Amino acid sequence: MIIWDDHFHVDPYHGLFLEAVKEFHRAGGTHLVVVYKTAHDYGFPGLKAEDFIKAMDFHVELVERINRETPVQAYAVVGVHPAEFDYLAREKGLEYAKNEIMKALEYAQKLCLEGKAIGIGEIGRPHYEVPPEIWEASIELMKYGMSLAREADCAVQLHTESFDEAKFRELGRYVREVGIKPYRVVKHFSPPLVRVAEEVGVFPSIIASRKNIKAAIEQGNRFMMETDYIDDKRRPGAVLGPKTVPKRTKAFLQNGIFTEEDVYKIHVENPEKVYGVEVEG
Ligand SMILES: [Zn+2]
Repeated sequence: MIIWDDHFHVDPYHGLFLEAVKEFHRAGGTHLVVVYKTAHDYGFPGLKAEDFIKAMDFHVELVERINRETPVQAYAVVGVHPAEFDYLAREKGLEYAKNEIMKALEYAQKLCLEGKAIGIGEIGRPHYEVPPEIWEASIELMKYGMSLAREADCAVQLHTESFDEAKFRELGRYVREVGIKPYRVVKHFSPPLVRVAEEVGVFPSIIASRKNIKAAIEQGNRFMMETDYIDDKRRPGAVLGPKTVPKRTKAFLQNGIFTEEDVYKIHVENPEKVYGVEVEG
């Protein structure tokens, strides 16, 4: 059985790295979308495009190591986290920050075109209050990242404040404006609004808590599951553990909440559609 966690971080400096991936595998996990953390977490200052570029290269190397040293198939998603933009704008000014982040996002696109990554992310806007000019610029950068993904025909993973129906519709407007295929757009840390996301055309990647996934499957199986595991000993219990997606999937299949068809759709067909990859066991 193929089991795909759609949003997972690894951190060799602050977390378990390969050990976390092995835990995922022992619980039955097979495929991982490993999302770039921050330049800072990877030991770079995050003060210019070059820092983010080095951090993305480092991230790609981590993913290559997972593929070499564990049985799990891992894919990289690279970008600049919205909190990194916020930090840089406060440190060095808005225009400077925008410019550097745009250059970094162009590099993320290059990695996608070279086949070293399957998507740009996590990009978007901060999940906390920021001054209006930072908010507006974050949206601009999010749209820029989406337009780079459109050109490369790769996916984009979005990090945002907590989402509701109105925000999905707002996102739908940006998707149309940019002209990216809506199914290439993943709302990471999505609430279980499967029907709304389907109407808008974007893909929800839903945190794999029991309550969320139960609410999601009642509306259909057009979604992916994620832990947003952060692999950070400094923040224990901040998110779900690495075993959650396989454990939840198996339990839901066993107690009849998922059918075999649901599992295949969520873990194979949906990721194939979104990322344009072939998912094999
Ligand atoms: Zn994340």
